Amino acid sequence: MTHVVVIGASLSGSVAAISLAQQGVRVSLIDKAPFPRRKPCGEGLSARGLGELERIGIDITRYPDLAWGLKGYRINSGSSWSTISDRSGLVGIRRSELDAELISYASKLPLITIHQAITLDSIESDAEKFVITFGRHAITTPYVVIADGASSPTLRALGKKLAVPASPRLGASSSWQITRGTLEPYVHTSFISGGEMYLTPLSRGGVNISVLGSKTLIQRAVHPALLREIVKSVATQLNIEIEMTAPPLGSGSLNSRCHGGHFRGAFVVGDACETFDPCAGFGMTHATLSGRLAAEHILKAQSNSSRDGALQDYSAAREHIARPIRGFTRLTSTMMSSRLGRIGFPIAAKTGVAGMVSHAVHSTTNGEPLRSLLSLVGGLRERAYAEGVTL
Ligand SMILES: Cc1cc2nc3c(=O)[nH]c(=O)nc-3n(C[C@H](O)[C@H](O)[C@H](O)COP(=O)(O)OP(=O)(O)OC[C@H]3O[C@@H](n4cnc5c(N)ncnc54)[C@H](O)[C@@H]3O)c2cc1C
Repeated sequence: MTHVVVIGASLSGSVAAISLAQQGVRVSLIDKAPFPRRKPCGEGLSARGLGELERIGIDITRYPDLAWGLKGYRINSGSSWSTISDRSGLVGIRRSELDAELISYASKLPLITIHQAITLDSIESDAEKFVITFGRHAITTPYVVIADGASSPTLRALGKKLAVPASPRLGASSSWQITRGTLEPYVHTSFISGGEMYLTPLSRGGVNISVLGSKTLIQRAVHPALLREIVKSVATQLNIEIEMTAPPLGSGSLNSRCHGGHFRGAFVVGDACETFDPCAGFGMTHATLSGRLAAEHILKAQSNSSRDGALQDYSAAREHIARPIRGFTRLTSTMMSSRLGRIGFPIAAKTGVAGMVSHAVHSTTNGEPLRSLLSLVGGLRERAYAEGVTL
């Protein structure tokens, strides 16, 4: 029986591992972290991402304690909030709980062996196979899925050079509890000096606060006391009182970049493959979609014993879904970062255009014409990646 090694057991890795095991493939799922664990994330998940979880048998909406239904976005433009309605089925969801749920679900499948709190000792590849050693294990396999996140130690161990952006955009996420008042079920976005702040309502009166922006801003936002200062005025404006329940966790660079769908014979998924600026809230969705696609192509490779063909086909299929996401992320980040865009947001919100666009790209259905249009923007951006130009 083929044995697939999946490195990284967060969203992309777990979805790949579960999809494979459900089709009769034996999987070793390895993560350096012990679960549950916290991870910097804005914790807003699209209906498309939820749809992918449902496909593997996890219907998150059945756990009201886990997923909190959201009605769209509110963008602060000075003294007022512009509402972008999106009833596609967005949710706020704690990553520590979602990722632990996935691991727990995977652990119940007899074909998956989970190795948590363990790092690889080595990974070597030749034209046909990999030899992977960790702990007291050594596995030889033709199939490896790299799902170890944006800075992918595995890609680097295999010799891939990951470029570091000259002016990185960074992030910090923290958990809060509402102690007075209520937060409407929208992701609340405010522009602050050097970046933006996102408040995502969660179940049980929880709120995720993520700050994205310049290094100077994030150096402040990772300090609990300084973060409280940053949050205070927005909380006052929203007429709520909130208390920090888990301190901020800083992230590496958030700049959108693509490392490619395969490398040295390995399938590369999730953030290890491509990162999208979180301002558009698509990283988790891409993680689930690419994890499922990699599993489907490994299954195809097994049936026609052509790993190289499957790697090429996987990359093309992933690129097909990534292009509109890239285009949407590009449009959102341009709006977020330019003066004109920030003026345009309230207009797009009031006219309903922003809501229609958001709904179409986040929903599982009806989005195809718009996604095709966004693919053009995403395609231009892909050419820029290939030519090393920063857009
Ligand atoms: C501040 C911030 C806000 C965000 N907000 C949102 C949002 O609101 N909505 C959204 O959809 N996306 C958001 N994202 C993006 C989203 O978090 C990622 O796209 C998503 O987590 C990618 O999932 P992944 O499984 O590919 O990688 P990750 O979630 O990064 O998981 C990688 C896993 O690999 C493991 N690992 C790392 N190295 C090794 C190793 N050597 N050996 C074994 N295991 C290893 C790690 O422990 C981890 O569990 C945000 C990201 C940030 C940083």
